[in-house]
Amino acid sequence: MKKVVKFGGSSLASAEQFKKVKSIIQGDDTRRYVIPSAPGKRYAKDTKITDLLYQCYEMMEQGREYQSVLRKIQDRYEEIIKGLGLKLSLDEEFRKIQEQFQKKAGMDYAASRGEYLNGMVLAEYLEFAFVDAASVIFFREDGTLNVEKTNRSLKECLGKIEYAVIPGFYGAMEDGTIKTFSRGGSDVSGSLVARGIHADMYENWTDVSGFLVADPRIINNPEVIETITYRELRELAYMGASVLHEEAIFPVRSEGIPINIRNTNAPEEKGTMIVESTCRKSKYTITGIAGKKGFASINVDKDLMNSEIGFCRKVLSVFEDQGLSFEHMPSGIDTMTIFVNQSDFEEKEQQVISGIHRAVHPDVIEMESEMALIAVVGRGMKETRGTAGRIFSALAHARVNVKMIDQGSSELNVIIGVKNNDFETAIRAIYDIFVTAQL
Ligand code: ASP
Repeated sequence: MKKVVKFGGSSLASAEQFKKVKSIIQGDDTRRYVIPSAPGKRYAKDTKITDLLYQCYEMMEQGREYQSVLRKIQDRYEEIIKGLGLKLSLDEEFRKIQEQFQKKAGMDYAASRGEYLNGMVLAEYLEFAFVDAASVIFFREDGTLNVEKTNRSLKECLGKIEYAVIPGFYGAMEDGTIKTFSRGGSDVSGSLVARGIHADMYENWTDVSGFLVADPRIINNPEVIETITYRELRELAYMGASVLHEEAIFPVRSEGIPINIRNTNAPEEKGTMIVESTCRKSKYTITGIAGKKGFASINVDKDLMNSEIGFCRKVLSVFEDQGLSFEHMPSGIDTMTIFVNQSDFEEKEQQVISGIHRAVHPDVIEMESEMALIAVVGRGMKETRGTAGRIFSALAHARVNVKMIDQGSSELNVIIGVKNNDFETAIRAIYDIFVTAQL
């Protein structure tokens, strides 16, 4: 059994946190490959090391005095090293970083040093081998990941090492230049390592006890989802629920490796298992609720639209020509509605309207703004009668006017459109009927 374990920035923000990480790793000797983020925030107003590095490099590029920020970064590492009682010195590393800064090694190089240095400290502390991510994760010239080379290198390199720390967030281009993933990308690194070594499990340790059924800013202390499928997760993540980097699921998903989201500050909790498929029923009929505000809807009516071949395509091509992507498109017999992001749409509103007039000569075009979309997601909905009925009676009781309903044909989700003002009330009503009422 082999596990890949990734620890996020808040899990490695101080010596105290490092100690928790060590005891987690020592608690299970199958936790063999460790992917650290850079030290994150120790308290709400703190600054992440990654942000300090970006700031520092930018100051250098502007010809400003940046050494004091670099010093601040070094101080944070030294505080951790001292707190752990290690003998490691990073002086030489910081000298090299400064040298590379002067050579204009790039923003990505600068940012990557956060995980690089943290990886060195963690490897020393755990007494694991240190493997520079630049020697095992590779990007092509065009900036995309070189999947074959990365897979091969990870397999070859880690096949010979039993216990290793591989810093997250970056890899190297063909010419050796350092390149990072987008923010939060250590999740992707962990996933790549898990695939490369055919891990049995990818544990992703963070500061929450898993994926929550609903947004904790709306629901007080929401339940944790025990098991969620990749597809359900995609639906919820698309609607704004986030714990993992969006791209992190693909490498492990293709190999059927489960991800377990765990809490470094509460390791006794089981967290959330993200799996390809499962016969486990979710605890409630629904797995999760998520949503976003700020949509506009454009409703196009035309008698006998239904029999006019190419009608939808012509309308949608108007949006395409304006570079607008649409979120949802419920339709009726002689009517279709297009949901778009309001702020993107506002600037192009008049061009879109005239474009639709020209393209399909509609009878009426109506618009509504300040709309919100809510996704109620659950693999259990397929087998359960009355889910939609329960959702809508809960919304009616909460006096929420439903503007749009769209059930995906996979029966994995129901999308509901409401006014922005009703957004929170609607989510609470749905949560209460499916979760609170069953507790
Ligand atoms: N340290 C990087 C960031 O703050 C990457 C990561 O933590 O995953 O975005």
